[in-house]
Amino acid sequence: MKLIFEKTVPGRRAVQTGPGDVPTMNVRSSLLRERAAELPELSELDVVRHFTELSRRNFGVDSNFYPLGSCTMKYNPKVAEHIASYPGFAQLHPLLPQLRMGGMLTQGALQVLYEIDLLLREITGMAGFTMQPLAGAHGELTGMMIMAAYHKDKGNKKTTVLIPDSAHGTNPASAAIAGYDVVSIPSNENGVMDIEAVRRHLNDEVAGLMLTCPNTLGLFNPHVKEICDLIHSVDGLAYYDGANLNAIVGKARPGDFGFDIVHLNLHKTFATPHGGGGPGAGPVGVREELVPYLPVSVVVKRSDGTYTLEYDHPKSIGYIAPFYGNFAVVLKAYVYILMLGKEGLRRVAENAVLNANYVKEKLKSHYRIAFDRPCKHECIFSISDQMAQNGIRATDVAKALIDRGFHPPTVYFPTVVHEAIMIEPTETESKETLDSFIDAMIEIAEQAGSEPEKLRSAPRTAPVCRPNETAAAKDLNIAYL
Ligand SMILES: *Cc1c(COP(=O)(O)O)cnc(C)c1O
Repeated sequence: MKLIFEKTVPGRRAVQTGPGDVPTMNVRSSLLRERAAELPELSELDVVRHFTELSRRNFGVDSNFYPLGSCTMKYNPKVAEHIASYPGFAQLHPLLPQLRMGGMLTQGALQVLYEIDLLLREITGMAGFTMQPLAGAHGELTGMMIMAAYHKDKGNKKTTVLIPDSAHGTNPASAAIAGYDVVSIPSNENGVMDIEAVRRHLNDEVAGLMLTCPNTLGLFNPHVKEICDLIHSVDGLAYYDGANLNAIVGKARPGDFGFDIVHLNLHKTFATPHGGGGPGAGPVGVREELVPYLPVSVVVKRSDGTYTLEYDHPKSIGYIAPFYGNFAVVLKAYVYILMLGKEGLRRVAENAVLNANYVKEKLKSHYRIAFDRPCKHECIFSISDQMAQNGIRATDVAKALIDRGFHPPTVYFPTVVHEAIMIEPTETESKETLDSFIDAMIEIAEQAGSEPEKLRSAPRTAPVCRPNETAAAKDLNIAYL
């Protein structure tokens, strides 16, 4: 846009932007440039080559298998992207619903927000949702703020939240930011939160519990209902971290387990690609009694069938994000849910669980299996004793996979498993892809015996090479050997 300068009062100049859509303003001359800014000049072709080169260095789920545990790096159908880019959605101004004309122009978008709320209620067994939170962790914080508002309203003096030791790191962080002390509950020999330990830590100070089920080890806690009942017995609230709903979607509902607050990661389970920080959406659902605390605004349907926004919710925790959250992400999830339908969503869970168990069974004689029982959406290995004797670590396995064209799995998380290798194949991968990954993992396990020194210097294929981790921590310029 071209800037037009024109002198008005002494010492001030009016600045007018190009097409004249922004009003003329007086800007003090001391704040104005004397000379044009020296911006780099590049041709369109140079810019295209630069970004194409960067995109080639990138690894995405569109390039190859990406079994990053707990992240659900599944393939998301392009049709959801396509519909989210329709100008009627993509070009809506976020202030439109508040304007008189907006009533007509935003009906479609408001209907999407209204209807996905109903769909997510049915999927989770909750009574109401907010679409505002911008990520899973943001949903957790919203949920914990609702928990705090509930206790404050009832005059409850509550100070602590119970969280299992295998939880995603964002859980204790969210509880702490909402003002609670965190008590870490150990996992038992079956890899799940120990119900006896919950009993031991239960007292009137407990505000609630945050639970991921199935947890980050891919294991379902058979005592989940009893744990929720225990929490309720001290007027605590049970929070369900539903970031990995892939494992149970269409099969079981957190509301039926007894949970009071739930967040979902639309960018893991419902058709938004992610990685590198977003954009995401972490809608939060609550049971009936907690609906008044949900953030404003709330989309409502009038008796004449039109939609509008409501703000008059005195108990609401307020706005937790601008406008309506990441609307395009919510829209993609809406498209995905309608496209798959009930049967399709059930198959998501079935195939996600089948694929994880297939990988687990095929690899368990080559790597140490952390918990040898049926898993849900992901399975956790550790390096075998023999690999450890040869000085091979989980990080060497991860880097050797890069040489074989795969994205490494999550390693060293969850922290309760020593040298953890956490594989989440997701439901979208074919048997052929899983088999070639399994072959690569077996080849690496064999190389650990025959050529351990080669593994320790992987990846060996350009353009990636093994960083010197000590140097990298000190100086980015000498990070590579
Ligand atoms: C990914 C994840 C989160 C956090 O979600 P973000 O969108 O990355 O903030 C929380 N809990 C679990 C179990 C997760 O896998």
